[in-house]
Amino acid sequence: MAKSMKVVFVTSEAVPYAKTGGLADVAGTLPTYLEKLGIDTCIIMPMYKKYDAEKILELDVELNGIKKVEIFRKDRTYFVSSPEHFYRDGLYGTPAGDYPDNCERFTLFAKSVIALLDKIEFDIVHCHDWQTGLIPLLVRRNNISAKTVFTIHNLGYQGRFPKEKFPLLGIEWDYFDIEGIEYYGDMNFLKAGIIYSDIITTVSPNYAQEIQNYENGFGLDGVLRKYNHKLFGILNGIDYSTWNPETDALIYARYSDYEGKLKNKFELTNECLFEFARPLIGMVSRIAGQKGFDILLKALDDIMALDYNIIILGFGEEEYCQRLKKFEEAYPGRIIVSIKFDETLAHRIYAGSDFFLMPSKYEPCGLGQMISLRYGTVPVVHRTGGLADTVFQYDAAAGSGNGFLFESYSAESMIQALSQARTVYFMTDKFKNLSEVCMKYDYSWNRSARQYGELYNKLFIQKT
Ligand code: ADP
Repeated sequence: MAKSMKVVFVTSEAVPYAKTGGLADVAGTLPTYLEKLGIDTCIIMPMYKKYDAEKILELDVELNGIKKVEIFRKDRTYFVSSPEHFYRDGLYGTPAGDYPDNCERFTLFAKSVIALLDKIEFDIVHCHDWQTGLIPLLVRRNNISAKTVFTIHNLGYQGRFPKEKFPLLGIEWDYFDIEGIEYYGDMNFLKAGIIYSDIITTVSPNYAQEIQNYENGFGLDGVLRKYNHKLFGILNGIDYSTWNPETDALIYARYSDYEGKLKNKFELTNECLFEFARPLIGMVSRIAGQKGFDILLKALDDIMALDYNIIILGFGEEEYCQRLKKFEEAYPGRIIVSIKFDETLAHRIYAGSDFFLMPSKYEPCGLGQMISLRYGTVPVVHRTGGLADTVFQYDAAAGSGNGFLFESYSAESMIQALSQARTVYFMTDKFKNLSEVCMKYDYSWNRSARQYGELYNKLFIQKT
């Protein structure tokens, strides 16, 4: 690995500063692991409120006239500050919908990044999701001597804006083309990222294949097929310093084996007023169509008939929340639905449940199943995206696998998997063994960071 390689991460969110989803974890955590490989990494992101950072320069950026943008810095992170555009309650919108000026906001961000690149040293610019899709285009158009990587964390969000806003970009109309940023008469920032980057990655190998199909391509499958020579899937990792049952201060009792795990189940079921002996399903999830709540709602009566208890922690779409709450009322002592964002309860569910259910309709990578494995909680998942790359069907006879998968996206198919899982649960020795096997899977960032390092290296060699 070339010691001097410098990578700039450009992202709209990163822990610990701003987070709406998995992207923030990746953008905030991966640089630490890249540094361990000797890759010098910095981050550029918008400044959503006053962070404890030092102002380092001012830039003039053209966006319907000249805008003054300030750049702040703390450690390895640069913040693009324009309070008028970024100081808001939500990152991209409110519960009522997206901000109407998202096109202006992220065009300003992209142009500020391009201006900032002029002031810092770098070799590779690694952009994430539609909010940064313009950057590979601008790097190429402006003949900036850098290679670009563009990572798709969720193809479902594309940054699509009307043609009337194209002049904001300040680029030639040639780019408004089917082979460019144009998409059914609109602009599509994600598409620009795909076309103009040197390498595209997505967050699991299986999702990299799936998005090339009509069913999961969200209208961009054709473009992705065309550019699949530069498309790679690299699995996300989880941060084992946060997710480790041996050191986790948020769970009831720390553990490294199945007996220790049972203490957590005992406390969790006690708190829920659940019977300890029944198999317990946990879910921690955004409550959204993507996450499989339509089939879950259809299956809940049958799940109860299989003798399971279930605890669901989530936050999101109102209609699903209300329907789930009705089930909680209908099955007292069997179902708990907790509608909130709660880090402590999330850890306790991962530690205290027997099974972790992820019936996602599609799942670019998924963190929940990897976390649950670390806690010895056996995943039951729909075979899709990153779930199919990380969960392998358990075979009691061979003693292989780490969970249960269902093939078709339906309530019936989910029930079948849960029925198999229940059978294994009551084969006590086998279940204990399975849980302990799960705890040993390694989905840390080390492996993913090495794979990103290899891709950067390829580009670095081309550049030098
Ligand atoms: P996505 O990024 O699509 O929401 P992931 O599975 O990749 O799904 O990541 C979700 C992360 O958010 C997991 O770490 C999960 O534990 C956490 N999470 C989701 N909902 C909640 C909640 N209501 N309270 C606490 N943590 C949550």
